[in-house]
Amino acid sequence: MGMKTFTAVEASPELLEAIRSFPVRREVEHCGARIVLSPFAIYADCPQCGTRIKVRSFSGATELEDLFDAVFEWMNQPGAREVVQQRLKALERELE
Ligand SMILES: [Zn+2]
Repeated sequence: MGMKTFTAVEASPELLEAIRSFPVRREVEHCGARIVLSPFAIYADCPQCGTRIKVRSFSGATELEDLFDAVFEWMNQPGAREVVQQRLKALERELE
């Protein structure tokens, strides 16, 4: 049984740092009100005026959110969540 070969892709230290410091929440302002939402939300509804605001840009440029989406897509395949859980536990132990 041969090992599957992986294509080497360069991930810069800057990219890794940007992922590590990626905020868990996104804040947008509308009608003077602050709306807190997931950084992956595409739209937010203003509680004041009810306007639907597009909070995620799809400019064609690849953004960090797209990178996360690729990881989430990967996680949606069978077996992926188990290895993610194992790795999360290992990382937690490393940080203790
Ligand atoms: Zn509003």
